[in-house]
Amino acid sequence: MQRQFAPLLASGPLAQTVRGASDMLVSMKLFVWFLLGIFAYSLWRAHRRRQAARSARSARQTERMVRCERCGVHLPLGESVERRGTYYCCDRHADAGNDGDHS
Ligand SMILES: [Zn+2]
Repeated sequence: MQRQFAPLLASGPLAQTVRGASDMLVSMKLFVWFLLGIFAYSLWRAHRRRQAARSARSARQTERMVRCERCGVHLPLGESVERRGTYYCCDRHADAGNDGDHS
């Protein structure tokens, strides 16, 4: 009985149906992998964008760091005291200027 159906399954219309179904399964699998790829790619892009924004932000913070001409301490531009285009850490150092006197 089964032996009689074997050639039919191998090349008959039933075999074509089975093969077609498995082809569809393969295409569906490929489609799922395709969607997963797009999903992973968009996740990666979002991650990259976040990283770029973070590094840009830290670059801006680095730009704003200035060095006191008096004592050499580094501080943010917003906290510094500017005198004649030179930055100092405090009013005392700004008033004293950069005359080399470290008293
Ligand atoms: Zn200083």
